Amino acid sequence: MANENGAPTGGQAREIDLSRPSIARVYDAVLGGKDNYEVDRVVADEVRRTMPHISDVGWYNRAILGRAVRHLAVEVGIQQFLDLGAGLPTLENTHQVAQRHTPHARVAYVDNDPIVLAHGRALLEENEYTGVVTADLRDPDAVLAHPGVRRLIDFSQPVGVMLVGMLHHLHDDEDPQGIVDAYMGAVPPGSHLLLTHFCDTGPEARTVEETMLEFLGTGRFRTMEEIEAYFHGLELLEPGVVSLPLWRPDSPVPLPLTVAQRLMAGGVARKP
Ligand code: SAM
Repeated sequence: MANENGAPTGGQAREIDLSRPSIARVYDAVLGGKDNYEVDRVVADEVRRTMPHISDVGWYNRAILGRAVRHLAVEVGIQQFLDLGAGLPTLENTHQVAQRHTPHARVAYVDNDPIVLAHGRALLEENEYTGVVTADLRDPDAVLAHPGVRRLIDFSQPVGVMLVGMLHHLHDDEDPQGIVDAYMGAVPPGSHLLLTHFCDTGPEARTVEETMLEFLGTGRFRTMEEIEAYFHGLELLEPGVVSLPLWRPDSPVPLPLTVAQRLMAGGVARKP
C-alpha cells in the first residue's frame, strides 16, 4: 500500500481486517459514525453495557481536541500539527479546526489503521496543507523521517504534537513515556503537547478497563498522576491536567462532574 504521497508505508500498513475489531472503527462506532463493522459494534455495545454514557466520553474528547487546537492556532500561533493516532472521525478534525483560524496551517495525520487512510483520502482531497500517513507511532524514528510527515512539518519551527485518546491504547511494556519523549525531543522549544487519556477514577473506570481489555485488547486507565507524568520536562498550561470538560471550557461546567465526565483527563504543555 502507498500513502497519499505515493510513498511506501514501510510495511506498517495492513489491509482492512474484518475478522477483528479495530480501535479506530470501535471509536467510530462509539461516536455514532458509519465507518465500522459488526465486529466493532459488538465491542462498542459491550463497553456501553458497562458505561452507558461512553459516547459522551468520546465527544468530550473530541471537544477538547477542538478547544485545544483552536487555542494553539489562535493564541499560541502554532502553524503545524502532528496528530498521532489521528483516527479521523467525521467532524471537526484537526485541520478543519486549525485551518478555520489559520488557513495555511499544516496537519500531518498519522495512524496505523488503513481505514483512516481510506477515509482520509476522501476528506483531504485538494487540501495541500494536510496529509495522512499510515505508520506505527510506536516507531518514532520512522514516523519522524517519513516523507509524508517531512513534506508538511518543518521541525525547525514549533509543532503541535497531539496524542489524543491514543496513549491508553499502549500497554506499559510498549514504553508510552519513551514514545512521548521521543516526539517531544524531536521538536523545537515553543512546541506544545496535547494529550488526553483514559483516567482511573475508581471502580467504574476499572470495570470499563476490564471490558476494553477483554474485547479489544487495549484500553489502559491510568491515574491522574500517571497521566501528568507524561508531560514531564514541559510547562503545563493552565489549568493543568484535568478531567476533559474542565480544560478551558467555552461555558461554565456544572459541578460535580459525572462519572462519564471524569473518565478521561488531559492537558496541554509547552516545551521550554
Ligand atoms: N485522536 C483521535 C481522537 O482522539 O478523536 C482518535 C483516537 S482513536 C481512540 C485512537 C487511534 O489511534 C485509532 O485511530 C487507532 O487506529 C490509532 N492507533 C492505535 N495504535 C496505533 C499505533 N501503534 N500507531 C498509530 N496509530 C495507532
